[in-house]
Amino acid sequence: MKIGFIGLGIMGKPMSRNLLKAGYALVVYDRNHAAVDEIVAAGAQAAHNIKTIAQSCQVIITMLPNSPHVKEVVLGEGGILAFAPSGTVIIDMSSIAPLASREIHAAVIKKGLSMLDAPVSGGEPKAIDGTLSVMVGGDKAVFDKYAGIMKAMAGSVVYTGEIGAGNVTKLANQVIVALNIAAMSEALILATKAGVDPELVYQAIRGGLAGSTVLDAKAPMVLKRNFKPGFRIDLHIKDLQNALDTSHGVGTSLPLTAAVMEMMQALRTEGLGQADHSALACYYEKLANIEIQ
Ligand code: NAD
Repeated sequence: MKIGFIGLGIMGKPMSRNLLKAGYALVVYDRNHAAVDEIVAAGAQAAHNIKTIAQSCQVIITMLPNSPHVKEVVLGEGGILAFAPSGTVIIDMSSIAPLASREIHAAVIKKGLSMLDAPVSGGEPKAIDGTLSVMVGGDKAVFDKYAGIMKAMAGSVVYTGEIGAGNVTKLANQVIVALNIAAMSEALILATKAGVDPELVYQAIRGGLAGSTVLDAKAPMVLKRNFKPGFRIDLHIKDLQNALDTSHGVGTSLPLTAAVMEMMQALRTEGLGQADHSALACYYEKLANIEIQ
């Protein structure tokens, strides 16, 4: 079975490498040709457009920034639906708005194709290790048939319900991650300003109730002032916007998410949109007029 992979960015590159390692035949496309060359050197076949992938691959994985990119690649002129035969399965692993997943899915099934929304959590390190967490929405029979492909890139693959459920789950994940980074930043700035070494504070608390995967992934980055992404602030703003839109759409409110969203917006205005989301600490450093180190 040939698998198409569209979107070879920070996440797509290591994910496609793990599919190659698992023995799948891969055809890859990205509008960034250097990324395609890199994965071709690892054993994939290059496609120069989406048409080639749509016509030759039974399963097509997309790993793109946001809803408009997935809509363009699936529904657009020259996109997957224009060329793929019925029976093709699209696994969208991008983090997009759940409503967009449902819209794209409706067009996809109309043409006799299938689609799962299967966003991931774990970031670049877990994409490299092949230990991502995948949360999947869509038809359960399609999930059962193709879960093995996702398992080649993941430590866990969990079915969460009908189409869009994967992205609702991902938004819940992104709310927790953003609020955790803000809480960690607030705590480390308190320690620093009170004259206690934030590195020792981190070491002392990481094994207790305040310890978390977020703390262990992000505190060392802040302490080393390493804000190389990882996960960009711009992408987290996208996820929080999708979370706020979705919450308003279903009739609830996310007050803490809204507050952290504004902090991230302020950092983007400062020119930190491309920095790792751990740079949320810089917002607190400005308030306290001190650096965490
Ligand atoms: P990225 O910006 O590094 O990569 C996106 C890739 O898509 C780029 O290579 C870009 O050239 C390509 N692309 C965009 N539009 C295209 C088009 N029309 N045709 C072909 N290629 C196109 O992003 P990323 O960090 O790899 O994230 C991808 C998705 O995964 C996002 O939805 C993100 O929210 C999610 N995600 C990222 C992380 C992370 O830590 N980076 C973690 C979990 C989930």
